[in-house]
Amino acid sequence: MNLKTINYNKANLEKGYTDRILHINLTDMEISVKEIPAETRKMFVGGRGYCLKLVYDGTTADTTYDSDENVLAFAGGPLCGESGFAGTGKFIIGSISPLTNTFCDSNVGGYFFPLVKQSGFDAISVTGKSDKDVAIVIDGDKCEISIENAPEIGNTLFEAEKLVEEKRGDSKPSNVSFVSSGIGGKNTNFGCINSVYFDVRRNRCRAKQAGRGGLGTVMNEKGLWGIIVKYDTSGGFSNKPADRKKLRNAGKELRNVISEVDPKSMRLRQQGTTSLLDMMNSNNLLPVNNYQYGTDSREKNVSGKIFEDKIFEQSKPDGCFAGCNLGCTKACEEHTLKTGPLSGKTIAVDGPEYETAAAVTNIGIFDIDTMLEYAWYCDEYGLDTISAGVVISFLIEAYERGFLTKEDTDGIELKWGSPETTMDLLHRMASGEKGFPSLAGQGIRYMKNWIAGRVSSRNGRVKEKVLEELSLFGMECKGLEFSMYITKESLAQQGGYGFALKGPQHDESWLIGIDQLNNEMPTFKQKAKALKWFPLFRTWFNIVGLCKLPWIDVRHPDAAKTDEPAKNLPTIDYYLDFINATLGTEKIEEDLLEDSERCYILHKLINIRQGYGTREHDIIPLRAMAPVFINEFESRKDYYYEYLKNETPNDIENKSDVELLKILQDYRIKQYDKLTDEVYREKGFDMNGIPTDETMIRLGFNNDEYMEIVRSARTNK
Ligand code: SF4
Repeated sequence: MNLKTINYNKANLEKGYTDRILHINLTDMEISVKEIPAETRKMFVGGRGYCLKLVYDGTTADTTYDSDENVLAFAGGPLCGESGFAGTGKFIIGSISPLTNTFCDSNVGGYFFPLVKQSGFDAISVTGKSDKDVAIVIDGDKCEISIENAPEIGNTLFEAEKLVEEKRGDSKPSNVSFVSSGIGGKNTNFGCINSVYFDVRRNRCRAKQAGRGGLGTVMNEKGLWGIIVKYDTSGGFSNKPADRKKLRNAGKELRNVISEVDPKSMRLRQQGTTSLLDMMNSNNLLPVNNYQYGTDSREKNVSGKIFEDKIFEQSKPDGCFAGCNLGCTKACEEHTLKTGPLSGKTIAVDGPEYETAAAVTNIGIFDIDTMLEYAWYCDEYGLDTISAGVVISFLIEAYERGFLTKEDTDGIELKWGSPETTMDLLHRMASGEKGFPSLAGQGIRYMKNWIAGRVSSRNGRVKEKVLEELSLFGMECKGLEFSMYITKESLAQQGGYGFALKGPQHDESWLIGIDQLNNEMPTFKQKAKALKWFPLFRTWFNIVGLCKLPWIDVRHPDAAKTDEPAKNLPTIDYYLDFINATLGTEKIEEDLLEDSERCYILHKLINIRQGYGTREHDIIPLRAMAPVFINEFESRKDYYYEYLKNETPNDIENKSDVELLKILQDYRIKQYDKLTDEVYREKGFDMNGIPTDETMIRLGFNNDEYMEIVRSARTNK
């Protein structure tokens, strides 16, 4: 049933923009279409920049994820939806997060936002709350927007085709796409949002996920089942660029590089991101047993090669949007579920991606069947595979080390390497079962506190002391669970996680490959500079609506001839052509960095305003810097002995392992602290992590409101 419908005049999509935003307030069922001011477009570009601006303007320091006024924002970017170039289906979803209490965003691919753009919108803002579940429907053909009762399909992904069939009318199924969460999004703090589209090659619906930060939880909190878009694409996808020929040429050149390089390097087209499993395992970077270890001989059972040969259907290309010949969105077409409410049903699994597979190895499980089961159910429930897996692995370690008892866990015996226990806990968390499962669904930051309280009442220990101990190996920073890389031996990646504004997620900074694997930034200064340049460049991809993989995971053969191969500058030239051909501009690399830096600073200002933007919030758990316990140290004893001999001034002869571990930990903590100073200087922050007046003025943030945020943070120090 339609609860509210409006018709709108569709704005032209010209040079990448429609300059229109769709506002929906679910409390009073208000729908409006507004023009995006030229100043907003100039300052914040699109994608993450628009999400940041919407959330900044719509919320206050007191807003929490469940406040009525919290904004759930969706935005593509000027390059999103252009099928003449690879990697253009990406869009951003952002909001005040239930995990971090400040702005968090996630990027995701698929056809949803390209269809929204063709329907006339650069962004969507959802505020307010409905007391019953509703869906927003954008019909770009009829120029009609409605708020309807939520669809009556049962399991979101299992029955996705049913919904597409119902909504498509006379149109092709691929002209319908939707975003929605699931029951896990309702019952935990780490709900994800699925971006669902109909894949004509596989003749079924597929899903990509905006996984991080609990955005699916916000969606559920608003009573929003999801947003459905329909648009007739018989005219194709184009952003009406200023110079179509130049765009097509740049797109062709990049596709040629991808075709030449990928089959000989990462094989993303054949293995998807599971190709990272071997690389991470052989370099001690694959999380095992809550990031204690970085390698395991059982990895051979779950290698990228096995996924390529035995699991992934290879006969069809797998781009998550038209025009991407890297095509990493692999899938297993037949998996029979063995657990949970749909046990016995045969389904198709999209992925698993590396992050999902590594979330499972981090629980000590090296079994592809469990990876498929875990991946599918997380998507179906609307759960972030990373946070869910890191919570489970933390709880197992807390149990093993005696912080948790069977009484605390309602009788669940937590153990490494158990598919049964893992899937059982996952199902119970997702369904919101009262007691331990629903508490676990609140995330690691919450659980550290809860466990510390239990230990304190049980043993009479000081709660704060127990909390400190749990924080050594409870892998969260700013409230967000770490993504799936062991960072102990890469100082640059420690910073990449610690300084990331949304929390430890690699999309802001993934330096582990170039720092630890290729040793392309050996000096301290180089690491600090990289920790400014890479986050800004990666942010640029998120503000314009692009996938980073064709840049970051496919190194141009000519990059080796440049001074800094890691930046992959020859490929960046294609992106410069792409943006300039779309907008009709003559931007150079510095302009892209500055566009990005303004968005970066706005994110920093929101963090400061919400109380999370200063130095203490950039501190990472000890386990991200060094082994915490003696078993971790002893698993790589020879390596650490050599390391200490070469890197530290200490006399290490005749020292016990316990003493050596302490020397190592102290050294690593000091290194991280020193790096923090250096990175803050590079970024134009003071030593408390607050942008200096000079930085604010340089980037155009010199109005009273913005300046007041940084000045009062300095006073409160
Ligand atoms: S590289 Fe993969 S994730 Fe990126 S656009 Fe292509 S298919 Fe999608």
